[in-house]
Amino acid sequence: GKITIAIDGYSSTGKSTIAKQLAKSLGYVYVDTGAMYRAVTLYAMRQGYIGGKEENMDKLIADLPNLSIKFVYNESLGFSEMYLNGENVEKEIRALPVSRLVSKIATLEAVRIKLVAMQQEMGKEKGIVMDGRDIGTVVFPDAEFKIFMTASPETRAFRRYKELLDRGEEVTYDEVLKNVQSRDYIDSHREFSPLKKADNAIEFDNSDMGLKEQLERIHNFALR
Ligand code: C5P
Repeated sequence: GKITIAIDGYSSTGKSTIAKQLAKSLGYVYVDTGAMYRAVTLYAMRQGYIGGKEENMDKLIADLPNLSIKFVYNESLGFSEMYLNGENVEKEIRALPVSRLVSKIATLEAVRIKLVAMQQEMGKEKGIVMDGRDIGTVVFPDAEFKIFMTASPETRAFRRYKELLDRGEEVTYDEVLKNVQSRDYIDSHREFSPLKKADNAIEFDNSDMGLKEQLERIHNFALR
């Protein structure tokens, strides 16, 4: 039967690449929960609650009911894209300005409560691969298969750096490394649902592994 697969880990460990491929090969739905936190962050930036002169998290929390985020499947791309109040924000949520503020937004309990409820709703249909920071610990503690991905900060920063360059962003390796390290720190030290490996998750260090080898290993673990 179909199962729930939870993939957690540090920033830019290649979780989404693996999760996407895994979902494709199994015929499962893929959900990128980071995109949801990123969309809330973009909204907060546009409304001026963060990233400007002053910060107002209370206003953001009061405004959460007016924020609609939705995944829309793009047939030609073969995966879903993030929509914020009806607008495709896929490109904007991946850029460095959002990456710099997202971990702060992700510390807010009210934001987590809203997004976790949405994620659990999506998971009611079995046959899902979800990636994030708290999927195996909080969102689906009963997931049949849990992976915790790690890789050295330098490997991760270099991967993310190349990705951003490919997308035409003007960034330096040092900026990206700093961002990866600062998100990891905030994500693993926050009060609500800090990033940590679930007890029954399989730890997977992919510093020196290509995509093909990673997928083979995961298939061997998951689909025995
Ligand atoms: O996965 P991605 O790197 O796009 O996630 C962006 C940020 O969103 C993370 O650094 C983290 O602060 C937050 N996040 C989270 N819980 C999740 C997914 C993402 O707190 N399940």
